[in-house]
This record gives sequence, C-alpha cells and structure tokens, in this order.
Amino acid sequence: MKQRLVIVGSGMASGRMLEHLCADAPDLFDITLFGAEPHGNYNRIMLSPVLAGEETFGEIVTHDAAWYAARNISFRFGEAVTKIDRERKVIVSRNGETAYDKLVIATGSAPFILPVAGKDLRGVVAFRDLDDVETMLTAAAKPDAKAVVIGGGLLGLEAAAALKKRGMDVVLLHLMDHLMELQLDPPAARLLQNELEGRGIRVRCRAETKALLGHKRIEAVLLDDGTIYPADLVVMAAGIRPETRIATDAGLHVERGVLVDDRMQTSDSDIFAVGECAEHDSRCYGFVEPLYEMAAVAAQSLAGIEARFRPLKFATNLKVTGVHVFSAGDFMGGTDCERILYSDPSLGVYKKLVLRGDKLAGAVLFGDTADGQWYLELIRAQTSVAATRNNLAFGRALAMRKAA
Ligand SMILES: Cc1cc2nc3c(=O)[nH]c(=O)nc-3n(C[C@H](O)[C@H](O)[C@H](O)COP(=O)(O)OP(=O)(O)OC[C@H]3O[C@@H](n4cnc5c(N)ncnc54)[C@H](O)[C@@H]3O)c2cc1C
Repeated sequence: MKQRLVIVGSGMASGRMLEHLCADAPDLFDITLFGAEPHGNYNRIMLSPVLAGEETFGEIVTHDAAWYAARNISFRFGEAVTKIDRERKVIVSRNGETAYDKLVIATGSAPFILPVAGKDLRGVVAFRDLDDVETMLTAAAKPDAKAVVIGGGLLGLEAAAALKKRGMDVVLLHLMDHLMELQLDPPAARLLQNELEGRGIRVRCRAETKALLGHKRIEAVLLDDGTIYPADLVVMAAGIRPETRIATDAGLHVERGVLVDDRMQTSDSDIFAVGECAEHDSRCYGFVEPLYEMAAVAAQSLAGIEARFRPLKFATNLKVTGVHVFSAGDFMGGTDCERILYSDPSLGVYKKLVLRGDKLAGAVLFGDTADGQWYLELIRAQTSVAATRNNLAFGRALAMRKAA
C-alpha cells in the first residue's frame, strides 16, 4: 500500500516540491494537498504585474485542477488546515480529519500588519494574495482615488508603481532613511526615488505611521509628526512573518520559522517544512530561489534520496517596468573592502562593486543591470577577479576581452 502524504499550503514552494516528487517518485505516495486560498497554485511573484495590468491572473497560474488531477493528487482548495495531531498522525480541516504517514508544512508567510489604530478599517490591505490584488483593483477603479502605500521595500515599491499605473494618486511612506535599505545603498536608493517621483509617486522617507483614520472605511493616514494623507486605500507592505501557527500548536520546534535540518525535516521525523515558513540554520527566506532549493531537497528526502540544503547567495530584482535595479551579496562592504563606483547621472546609471581582497563580495546596479547575473556568478564562485578588476564595472564583454 502507498504511504499517505499530506501537504499543507498550496504555494510556490509546495508546487515546486510536487513537480520534483512527481518526477522522482511518481508512485510512492497517495498525495492530498490543502490550500487556504480558493483556487489553484499561481506564481505569487507575478501578482505585481497583474496589479499593474501587464498580466492576467490566468497567465500566472502554475498548477490548476487539471494538473493535480493528471497526477492523481487530491486537492482541497479553500480548505485551511487548523490542527496537526501528531499522536494520531492526522490533520484537521473544516471537512474533518485526514490521516498522514508523512506531512509537509508549506504555509508561507503572513504579512506584518502595523499594530496601529484603524488597521482593521475597510480599504486597508496587505499585498500577499489574489484577494488583496482584487481589493486594490476595486479601489483603483474609482475616479480620483488615493492610495497610501506603507513600506518602501520591494513589495511596497511594486504596489506603488502598479497603482500609479492604474491611475491612482499614490503616496509611498517608508520608515527608514532611504528606500529598499536591505538591498540598496543610499545613492542607488536616491536614483530609485527620483525615478518613482518622476512617475508622479510622492515618496516620503522617515515617515512613522501613527494611526489610520476613518469611520468603518479608511479615510486618511496620520503620521507621528501630525501630517495627514487622505486615502481611499492603504496597502501595508511592512514585512512578513513566517506562518507557523499550526506547527507551534502541534509542539514542533519553532523559532522564527519551523526549524528544519539540511533534509528539510522538522523536529518530528515524519513532518517536513519548506518555503518561507521554514527556518534553516537560523535563517528564514523571503525569495523564491532558496525556497525552490528547499523544495527540491524536500522532494528527494521524501523519495528516500540523499540530499542536503545548501543555500546559495541570491540576487534581488525589482519588478517595476522600466526600472532596472539589481542587488546581491554584501553590497555595503566593511572596512576590509574596496569599492568600485561607476556613475553616469545623465543616463541614470549607477554601479557599485564591492571587493574583498581580489574577490567580488557584492554589487548594486541601477539603470543598467545587464551584467547582474555575471556579478552574481562571481560573488557565488568567489574566484579571483584580479585579471578583470580594472574593467569589472564595464561588464562582462569588455572586462573579459581586455583580460584576454
Ligand atoms: C507581490 C509579491 C511579489 C513578490 N516578488 C518576488 C520576486 O520578485 N522575487 C522573489 O524571489 N520573491 C518574490 N515574492 C516572494 C515569493 O512570492 C515568496 O517567497 C513565495 O511565494 C513563498 O512561497 P511559499 O510556498 O513558502 O509560500 P506561499 O507562496 O505564500 O504559499 C503558502 C500557501 O499556504 C497557504 N496556507 C497558509 N496556511 C495554511 C493552512 N493552515 N492550511 C492550508 N493552506 C495554508 C497560503 O494561503 C498560501 O497559499 C513576492 C511576493 C509577493 C506577495
């Protein structure tokens, strides 16, 4: 008899894991997949282009009902798992209990909602799923509608740019000194801010939200310095937290995320975790590249194939059409680092390469990101760049030709 595999969470990590599992060990398990969202699996990172009107939802669906049916996977969309009973090896959902031999937790993250007055008013949304996008689109359809986006990280910027494109009047508020401070240095962030302001988005850094004002519906955002921004829509893009509730309640070892070893196994040997909800080696991830690695390792572990998760350095790209931003590795660098800077303000191009000894430690690119992948390879490989150093900032083609 086949073993029963239950998966909690129908998102990007579990979707990729199922692809691997169906390829590596198609007949090993009877698989049941639970997803809290009411539809099949989609490419969540493409919600930004959907919001901007550059893609449709249908175009970003990765695994629909037919995909699961073709692989004999029972899918339970719109059915959240509320409890794991490890003693009896069952999970609980609204339709009762489902037994498992192996369980995978792939519940992703929950958006962080600022704990301010008014956070529950209608018209206040996060930017995490299709429902959020639909709420934003409804707000954007009203004439002269005003949006305030809280959070100047990747998601906030993508939301602000998309809503502006949809015709809203947009204010972007960010708590820190400059935009995308986790990925960009101040000069690159300044260029980015100029670009957004050039599109008509009002950007305010060092903006601390004190309260959201309104009667039932959002009407305005109040900052701690007394400034008030009228709003028909507020998008909270102030960070994410691993969604670990069912794991914690089940007594699994959870810190920031559900703790997993190199094989993606949790503190219970029959339960695995993948994706943003998992914590490996004291790190949780919020980007798909490492999560896809986790997904491959989890599938192999389930299939009895030896595999170990070894996270690589990865890069960040912003998905705002016409804005080219790239960041990877240690982009600030310490006192032991040398920085190569290239800047052409009239072209709106800025490049910073951070060298530690003769190796590339990090890179920030604005305006011209064509060589981002090459820099990422150099950061990952940690091979000497001494031969190309003098022309490194001019890109692969020129640097390699001069070095030859
Ligand atoms: C707008 C947007 C843009 C992004 N852009 C990028 C980008 O450009 N590059 C990048 O690398 N990353 C990007 N990300 C991040 C990326 O989407 C996530 O890292 C990735 O989706 C995480 O995959 P996951 O499977 O861990 O979680 P998710 O994809 O969130 O899937 C988790 C699923 O589990 C479900 N779930 C939760 N709890 C339960 C439960 N108890 N029972 C049943 N189901 C449950 C959730 O509803 C969800 O459907 C973006 C994210 C967003 C929102």
